[in-house]
Amino acid sequence: MSERLQGIGMTSRRTRGRMIERLKQQGIKDPGILAVMNDTPRHIFVDEALSSRSYEDTALPIGYNQTISQPYIVAKMTELLLAGGPLSNVLEIGTGCGYQTAVLAQLVDKVYSVERIGPLLKKAKNYLWDLKINNVSFQHSDGSWGWPEKAPFEGILVTAAPSEIPASLLQQMAIGGVMLIPVGTNTQELHKIVRSKTGYRDEIIEAVTFVPFLTGRE
Ligand code: SAH
Repeated sequence: MSERLQGIGMTSRRTRGRMIERLKQQGIKDPGILAVMNDTPRHIFVDEALSSRSYEDTALPIGYNQTISQPYIVAKMTELLLAGGPLSNVLEIGTGCGYQTAVLAQLVDKVYSVERIGPLLKKAKNYLWDLKINNVSFQHSDGSWGWPEKAPFEGILVTAAPSEIPASLLQQMAIGGVMLIPVGTNTQELHKIVRSKTGYRDEIIEAVTFVPFLTGRE
């Protein structure tokens, strides 16, 4: 793995630098997030055949009909999630290959990540182990239920799009907590939900394209 971690070596560090420049041009400002994305080898999260494309600003296939999210969207969702200050616990629904998980785990105290496809979750666990990231707990389940035993969460980040926001996720937000979630079927919008003592504020951020949020486990 160490070879794969170094991977395409200097080339990968340079292309990652270009990815960071592009993120800045796209409006990402948080220096902490830019530093973490500069240091996290995205190429190890995709099949070797695709490594050379891993720093392009595009989603790439990771098997099982799923994709690794585009760097811009990872940065944007993380920036919006952390805009109110540091978070102690974050629930992530849709681990996928674990790239967003790895970025998040370096910026918050603890991540709880749920994935419905068993083999993808297994791979993600291995990648995070290789990167020596150990503040993440994983669960193989349908994220519609959230993770009630660990609630309330200061942050919730959903990386697959349901047609409606699952009620259990709203219930598991802490007061003052924030959730980023893409919603919709054909066209989707990224929503930022903030919970207050009196209710929920729902702000639409921008149009996005995510894989669908599905029920059950595989
Ligand atoms: N976060 C990933 C992107 C993963 S793609 C990244 O960093 O690139 C979205 C993931 O959500 C897929 O792996 C899919 O299997 C998962 N997913 C979809 N519906 C889900 C559900 N109900 N519960 C848990 N995971 C779900």
